[in-house]
Amino acid sequence: MMTLEIPLARIRGMTPRFLARLKKLKIQTVKDLLWHFPSRYEDFSTVYQIADLQPNQVATIRGTIQDTSLRRSWRRGMTIFEAWIVDETGSTRAVWFNQPYLRNVLRRGRTVNLAGKVVFSEDDLYMSNPAYEIATNEALGETSHTGRLVPIYPETRGLTSKGIRYLARIVLKNLKPIQEHLPLEALEENGLPEINKALWQVHFPRTIEESAEARKRFAFEELFMLQLGNFAAKSALAEEKATSIPSDIEYARFLMASLPFELTFSQKRSLWEVIRDIAKAQPMNRLLQGDVGSGKTVIAAITALIAAKSGLQTAFMAPTEVLARQHYFTFKKLFGSQEAGIGLITAKETEVCYGQNLETEVKKTDFLKKIKNGEIKIIIGTHALIQKGVGFEKLSLVVVDEQHRFGVQQRAALASSSSKLIPHFLSMSATPIPRTLAITIFGDLDLSTIDELPSGRKPIVTKIVAPTNRTQAYKFIREEIKKGRQAFVICPRIESADTQINADGIADKRRLLWDVKAVKEEYEKLSKKIFPDLRVSMLHGKLKSDEKKETMLNFSRGEAEILVSTSVVEVGVDVPNATIMMIEGADRFGLAQLYQFRGRVGRGEHQSFCFLFTDSSAKTTHQRLKALMEAKNGFELAEKDLEIRGPGQFLGESQTGMPDIAMHALQNIELIKAARDSALKTINSDLKKYPLLKKKLDEFKNQIHLE
Ligand code: ADP
Ligand code: MG
Repeated sequence: MMTLEIPLARIRGMTPRFLARLKKLKIQTVKDLLWHFPSRYEDFSTVYQIADLQPNQVATIRGTIQDTSLRRSWRRGMTIFEAWIVDETGSTRAVWFNQPYLRNVLRRGRTVNLAGKVVFSEDDLYMSNPAYEIATNEALGETSHTGRLVPIYPETRGLTSKGIRYLARIVLKNLKPIQEHLPLEALEENGLPEINKALWQVHFPRTIEESAEARKRFAFEELFMLQLGNFAAKSALAEEKATSIPSDIEYARFLMASLPFELTFSQKRSLWEVIRDIAKAQPMNRLLQGDVGSGKTVIAAITALIAAKSGLQTAFMAPTEVLARQHYFTFKKLFGSQEAGIGLITAKETEVCYGQNLETEVKKTDFLKKIKNGEIKIIIGTHALIQKGVGFEKLSLVVVDEQHRFGVQQRAALASSSSKLIPHFLSMSATPIPRTLAITIFGDLDLSTIDELPSGRKPIVTKIVAPTNRTQAYKFIREEIKKGRQAFVICPRIESADTQINADGIADKRRLLWDVKAVKEEYEKLSKKIFPDLRVSMLHGKLKSDEKKETMLNFSRGEAEILVSTSVVEVGVDVPNATIMMIEGADRFGLAQLYQFRGRVGRGEHQSFCFLFTDSSAKTTHQRLKALMEAKNGFELAEKDLEIRGPGQFLGESQTGMPDIAMHALQNIELIKAARDSALKTINSDLKKYPLLKKKLDEFKNQIHLE
């Protein structure tokens, strides 16, 4: 009897070559194999009589092998194996190329099932390369490759569906029954099959309905685990203690009044939600959502200053150095005169400013001391912030930009090893996630939403540019630049077959090279051919961090008019004078991403423009790009994107570690709700009653990383 953990290498008859190919699909254990679901099914369920075969039909026949022949075609350099099959109604021929070993399998006198395409050529009807199965005494329903719905798997080179199917059946037959970890009531209430049955049904369904039922079960399972995990995390966090940060409303009002602008209504609402939360002695866990430019940083800054006023520290993490620096500048610009020491730390630099805009470059060791002794209250940085050696005096708040999850353990470790206090947590995101998705995926976080832009911002004029209008667009851009404006140019990510394979990060490296190549080419084109008279600079992932900084700084000072960049390099810098966002290969980006790019312009007083260059004339492309033109805010757009492309594309499957099936399930609102109800019931009735479920939940949490 096999168990899920058993490596496939232990199964008799596995060749190293076969195993190596399976490994490419990340299939190494029985479990990996069984969770490698068919992508579709071929319907070979009707067994045809030979006399009824029609050209081009895909069919299964069942008959006896009357004769065979193996010959070599020297001219074409291949072997040809042929078999003549008879049933009660007639006879036909089947042909296989380069499979001489079939001579030993398909012997004369044997009864076989053949399934495949019926070909008609030169007055002759035959089956070309059909799947075959020696009929034993088993009933037809017991076959794997013929006479049924036949599973077709996502394949890799040299590994056929047939091979996987063959193995899947052996494994299923010999599998020690798996213990169901989902609550039986949950399955019953939703009419879903238990795990063992579901596995059979997904690999070898008798009907399409059976496979659908099984898939629904697995989708339900993902949604159930996801939400159960969130509920569990939420109730666990409620047991933890945090430092209460007193709501110094007066100081908050003072800070607001010192700003050169008035906060929008939803900024104020979000700020109060945060201030109220951090006053509690339980850790806040909040996601602040808001479009690019909606002013999230100010909210975090005021919160951090309120904490500083009580002598408490805030760690503010940005995903890139450029963004960390940008936040640091924003803090300095808006609140540099406040007493709290504000520091910047990246892998390469450390810098502090204290009241009255006094700025000091400090050595890293001194910087770390100043964090440790509490002199610096607000520490802005990249991941350098959470490296070993950074110790805080009284860390009470962690703010993270564009990264939704930051483990409770990570937070606790940051705070200090001795204190049992967990810092409050504020996550900020400009990725507009539809509400249904947000509460499913980030169900352990409370949501604050800024759904308006500061008043006075002019809507960005967005245009789709077809290849024929390119010259005209360039002309327009030139005119704007002549008026003193600046432009961003985003190059598309290059997708290729290789980038799909992501097992060891090689493809990522290769992709980076391609991206860089695309930027360099675009840079050459623009600087030499299109705008030789203008100053063009470029930004990409292969530049050193000083070079990136330099390039960004130059651009924001207006020393270059055009900045060509890859999509991966954050152009998250505030350059109010940049009014043009030109996106090459716009159809290759998700709407959410396009939306973010566009948000980089329209930050100043001048009218801004976004040009979407595309060669694609596909209907969905235009549908999507049009949605971008029409959407009032990011959330509305997100709903559209979700509708058009599905959640996989929307969130980026490769990044989440979420299985396909869960991604698709996220579109199924009914199922999400059903799973949530079940998860709630389970958590309310106490997880301890389900030890296996609890164990699975821990595994599940490690596998998913939504950031
Ligand atoms: P994001 O939400 O994208 O992080 P930021 O916090 O960077 O946005 O804000 C974008 C710009 O808008 C900054 O220059 C900021 O100072 C400014 N800003 C923020 N709130 C307002 C407001 N209520 N009115 C006018 N400008 C604002
Ligand atoms: Mg921001």
